[in-house]
Amino acid sequence: MTQYEKAKKGLVTPEVEKVAGEEEIPLDTLKGYTLSGEVVILNNRRGDSLGIGKGLRVKVNANLGTSPEICDLEWEKKRLIAAVEAGADTIMDLSTAGDLDKTRKMFLENCSLPLGTVPVYQAAVESIQEEGSLAKMKPGKIFEVIEKHARDGVDFITVHCGINRKILEMFKNNKRLMYVVSRGGAFHVTWMVATGKENPLYENFDDLLDIARQYDIVLSLGDALRPGALRDSTDVLQIQELLTHGELVERAREKGVQVMVEGPGHVPLSHVEANVTMEKRICKGAPFYVLGPLVTDAALGYDHIACAIGGALACWKGADFLCYVTPGEHIRLPTPEDVKEGVIAARIAAHAGDLARGMKKAWALDNEISDKRNKREWESEIALSLCPEKARAMWEESRPLRPGICSMCGEYCSLKLVEDWLKNES
Ligand code: SF4
Repeated sequence: MTQYEKAKKGLVTPEVEKVAGEEEIPLDTLKGYTLSGEVVILNNRRGDSLGIGKGLRVKVNANLGTSPEICDLEWEKKRLIAAVEAGADTIMDLSTAGDLDKTRKMFLENCSLPLGTVPVYQAAVESIQEEGSLAKMKPGKIFEVIEKHARDGVDFITVHCGINRKILEMFKNNKRLMYVVSRGGAFHVTWMVATGKENPLYENFDDLLDIARQYDIVLSLGDALRPGALRDSTDVLQIQELLTHGELVERAREKGVQVMVEGPGHVPLSHVEANVTMEKRICKGAPFYVLGPLVTDAALGYDHIACAIGGALACWKGADFLCYVTPGEHIRLPTPEDVKEGVIAARIAAHAGDLARGMKKAWALDNEISDKRNKREWESEIALSLCPEKARAMWEESRPLRPGICSMCGEYCSLKLVEDWLKNES
């Protein structure tokens, strides 16, 4: 039975209890959100579990995995360590090169965080290698790979079920700059165009649900048509795919399968709130997993900042799960340092969203740090912060000669001046 089916029967699972305890949310409230599908529980069969959705802290995912250009398992381990140490909540293995089974098992063995994958990558890459072309990929191959990932203990999978022939037809009358920037989406579209057939994940969605139900794997409905440029944001193609996702969410829930929905992408700041509202409304409150959003196309080298700006607003308005973007986005496979910077930027965005949503734990942290800052207790302030390592290095590098101040204002430290003045007054 899945977590969702157990919730329907009124059962309280140890996983729900654990999440309620960790997140300091009343058990009955969390039970209600699990039952309504507004929260999904990633039920990590390797010993841990994680809740994503309404009333819970916003989570951060780090994408890792090999590419045909850089395929080195030792380097992947370094990037994994960087992501975990920087505070990622989940990892996705997006590998497309090397021994894909071995790489996935490396992630499963070396990381206790929930793991996500995009099985169509493996189905497509192996079909190209074994059959000579993507067009020869057999629909059954996608389902075989999905079941293999589920059996291995993967916690969630991105499945591009919403891109169907109806939307392909709509391409003719709805021009875009970048039709498909999603890699999984591009595999599906290429296959559909070459074969003239329907997307197997859409056509045989019930088969997918049977596998997801058997292993209680969470489905993340991937947005093949997420905008890859601001000028394509919130267009007809994107919204049509979202409407399809809304229908699929209902079908998943009817079968007892936990589901979340993925979202943009490149969108201007002014579209972010509308995108969250539409997803929540059309997909009946399903947790929203946003890839960015990047609020400008012009921040090359600093796309983690463009993402954090959009991510913070998206979280404030209701997004539940942020996929990090690194400084290397659009340029290279992220280095371990890029991974670290990307995770930290997304965690800051998630925390800002938590504060705006009035999360008590987030406010408690900020209030405590403010107290330490007011007293200029740097060691405590740094230890509590989101990235102590960098702050500590900066502090050590520029330690002031006098106590109770920092090198920013020196003897004109406003906090100390007013503190001294108040002491003299009393
Ligand atoms: S010296 Fe300036 S920056 Fe440093 S603690 Fe005092 S007021 Fe803040």
